[in-house]
Amino acid sequence: MFISTPQMNGTWANGPSLPINPYCVTHRRPCVLRVVRKEGENKGRQFYVCSLPRETQCEFFEWADLHFPLCNHGKRCLMRTVLKLGLNNGRNFYVCPLGKDKQCEFFQWAENGPGIKILPGC
Ligand SMILES: [Zn+2]
Ligand SMILES: [Zn+2]
Repeated sequence: MFISTPQMNGTWANGPSLPINPYCVTHRRPCVLRVVRKEGENKGRQFYVCSLPRETQCEFFEWADLHFPLCNHGKRCLMRTVLKLGLNNGRNFYVCPLGKDKQCEFFQWAENGPGIKILPGC
């Protein structure tokens, strides 16, 4: 029998493709995604900042939702990650930012990772 053993460095082992993180200008490192925790109109919004520890962090700041799609309400979607175990575990997707009872049915996988082109106008 010829059973091929899975190779650890195979391309399939790289995990789900994530949206492209911006690079901070000062360090040219990929930024990290954070969520606003302060109470206010921006609570729950996601943004990118420098990935280095606070002491060495630069002032890079960018809202993450600027290129997120709009839901059926015309509001910026939130990006979430599939937590359920299964085929889609770890994949990111966009949903309506409103609360569960007001949420519309908008749903879109966030698969603008490396190698996948984002079509203009989409
Ligand atoms: Zn930086
Ligand atoms: Zn909506």
